[in-house]
Amino acid sequence: MTDIVLTHGTVVTMNERREIIRDGAVAIDGNRISAVGKTTEIKASHRADIELDCDNKLILPGLVDCHVHLAQALIRGCADDLSLVPWLSERVLPLQGSYSPREGELSAKLCCIEMIKSGTTTFVESLLHWKYGFNEIAKVVDATGIRGVLSKSMMNLRGYADQPDAIPEGMAEDGETTMRQALEMIKKWHGKADNRIHVWFGARTPGGCTIDFYREIAEQARKHRTGITIHLGEVKQDIDYMRKEFKMTPMEFMRHCGVVGPHVIYAHGVWIPQKDFKILSETNSTVCHCPASNLKLASGFAPVPEMLHAGVNVGLGCDGGPSNNCYDMIREMKLAAIVHKARLLDPEVLPAEHVLEMATLNGARATLWGKELGSLESGKLADLIVVDQRNPHLVPVRNPVSNLVYTANGSDVDTVIIDGKIVMRGRKVKTIDETEIVERAQEVGLEVDKRLGLETGPSWPVK
Ligand SMILES: [Zn+2]
Repeated sequence: MTDIVLTHGTVVTMNERREIIRDGAVAIDGNRISAVGKTTEIKASHRADIELDCDNKLILPGLVDCHVHLAQALIRGCADDLSLVPWLSERVLPLQGSYSPREGELSAKLCCIEMIKSGTTTFVESLLHWKYGFNEIAKVVDATGIRGVLSKSMMNLRGYADQPDAIPEGMAEDGETTMRQALEMIKKWHGKADNRIHVWFGARTPGGCTIDFYREIAEQARKHRTGITIHLGEVKQDIDYMRKEFKMTPMEFMRHCGVVGPHVIYAHGVWIPQKDFKILSETNSTVCHCPASNLKLASGFAPVPEMLHAGVNVGLGCDGGPSNNCYDMIREMKLAAIVHKARLLDPEVLPAEHVLEMATLNGARATLWGKELGSLESGKLADLIVVDQRNPHLVPVRNPVSNLVYTANGSDVDTVIIDGKIVMRGRKVKTIDETEIVERAQEVGLEVDKRLGLETGPSWPVK
């Protein structure tokens, strides 16, 4: 007896041959996919407890968001149309720095609901400060049913590139404490919630850690067989700083610190020079492309088609509430697919299919779940999403992949299954009270602004 069978959908398998199965089905036993094929074949060989009819819908692997700030959902829209320095030092960091653990937990709940509702089944949180309440946030991941990498923020300096005091008092941590907390969290949470929670090291950008501290992080990551994520080359000041201070490119510097390898994700990579692509591809490291954040903060354009061409693993990420301002990977896929066409004056670069690979297979590889996630194949973990294809803005469907990337948005996701469990069905999240979280987030979000005396309302007169 099979637990769940999804039938009559268009299955975008993302298998090695990238097969698309019309009138297809996926069978799930426990937390794994047991069969993928035509509905007639699967129904003949599987009797299921639950059959989900996916007529006029796409069935595809759950999306992997490689760069998320859970704590920033609650400060969504707090710093629109500002340049990076006041954005970070006057709004984002002071607001996050004033959080109580209850606010950190609420933000994580809001963020997880938004991700589930827009088809993200696995995410990488990149900089989790202790004060947001690491334990409570891990419990949120467990309870919502999502799969996630939680990276403990690591720092032993207060700088950001050449600004030595960029990290305000409320956000500053010392090296010894961050390392102790990270190791404690690995012990307590790594592999927990049926292996849906992994704990990584979230190293701060150069200027926030000494070389020795990066090396210590690298050593501990190796020892505990876990990963590291770091913002790298997001803004031009980053590479100017590394060139001036260490006479190295960003990837030369990372290699010098031992922070390279298949277990490392560099977020943004906007200013990574061509010279570095070889180090990235030879070490099987990942760059996470965050197009919305880079465009909104005017950081620049990451050389994504060029990196893919050089054999670099590139994933996709939504970043955070003040920089994006949403956590919708389907919208992010569209931006990734169109921005480079205009930049390179070439509509043939980065086709929709390659972007869907970034959001599934490449992301799975980046999170070290590559053998388990990223495609719909027998034996893999049952993380999959069902996307409606019969909304007015989606028809007529010719190529379902380009239709998904260029036309759909997160609200078209109908059903989400993670680790074999139905987490959302018919757009209703089953694991958490969505209405209550939305109400509280509206109220508490504005309270946080008020506490800091920040004016974040409309710039036009309000009657
Ligand atoms: Zn970020």
